[in-house]
Amino acid sequence: MILKQFDELKSFLIKQQQIVIIGHKNPDGDAVGSSLALKHYLDKKGHRAQVLMPNEYPDFLHWIPGSRTVYRFDRQNNQCVKSLKKSTLAFLLDFNTLHRVGSDMQNTLSKYEHDFVLIDHHQQPDDFKYMYSDTAMSSTCQMVYNFIDMMGDLDLIDKNIATCLYTGIMTDTGSFRFRSTTSRTHRIIADLIDKGAENDKIHSNVNDSNTHSRLLLLGQSLSNLEILPDYKTAFITLSEQEKKKFSHEKGDTEGIVNYALSIKGVVFGVIFIEDEEQGIIKISFRSKGKFSVNQFARNYFDGGGHDNAAGGRSEMNMEDTLKFFKTLLPKYKNDLINSYEI
Ligand code: 5GP
Ligand code: MN
Repeated sequence: MILKQFDELKSFLIKQQQIVIIGHKNPDGDAVGSSLALKHYLDKKGHRAQVLMPNEYPDFLHWIPGSRTVYRFDRQNNQCVKSLKKSTLAFLLDFNTLHRVGSDMQNTLSKYEHDFVLIDHHQQPDDFKYMYSDTAMSSTCQMVYNFIDMMGDLDLIDKNIATCLYTGIMTDTGSFRFRSTTSRTHRIIADLIDKGAENDKIHSNVNDSNTHSRLLLLGQSLSNLEILPDYKTAFITLSEQEKKKFSHEKGDTEGIVNYALSIKGVVFGVIFIEDEEQGIIKISFRSKGKFSVNQFARNYFDGGGHDNAAGGRSEMNMEDTLKFFKTLLPKYKNDLINSYEI
């Protein structure tokens, strides 16, 4: 755990500040939840906080309290640049290195004249003036709860803040089932329910938002699934053509990789998704046990993340990407076979 210059930050926050809060590209429930929770909290403390996201996030997150106030860097560039200019401090939430916001926004942020505060749970963070980094944490939302606690302000957590934090903890822990979910996580969740988070509604808002075409896309993905029993590995592919056929929208592929990992005996699940716009294959990796997909994604696919959930990319076409992927597995055979024991 790294906690850097917290007391100085606390003193800086005694005076009212103009603050921007920034999440990563393709924001997920944890990025959106933590950013909006922090915004509500800082506003309550008398600051003016504006959330900036690099690009769009999925529909199933649009109901989160405060969602309408978010500026998107790709669409509302002027407002974003203005907010950055006016601000005296920038929080970076749920990512570890500036390039995770995408190259356009990274360019702008690299010229930022004030200080950054990083709150994040990904491995190998870059160095910033103020940091709270802990890879043992279930989610950045859990860390924002801790941050508010360290500020001595748990009593300021209201229904909106509790709802945002609950959402991110829930989505990043796969509904409280991953290894990173501790008794402390559950205690925080209990407190958030006491403070007004309506757990049944949050689960329903996030998880029961399927459309017919999304289910058909899932059906296609599942029929593309391949299992490699020798390596306890299963992978799914999705081509641009298949995405188009089922009217793919942002967020539709979220979570599909978990079906690969849900197969009995499988410890390594992967989904390869063709992205014509970026000219890449976007890859999500998931594992059970000791096999580190963070390291695997870093070594071969220009990515990273956590030990059991990471992402990366390939600039080859789908066929060559799969060939390359399959050539890597023999080297990891022992690690994969011994990764996880029930
Ligand atoms: P997902 O597969 O859901 O996109 O991402 C899983 C985890 O890996 C998330 O924590 C995400 O932040 C991280 N991740 C996804 N893609 C990348 C990437 O290209 N680079 C790095 N460093 N992390 C990534
Ligand atoms: Mn996260």
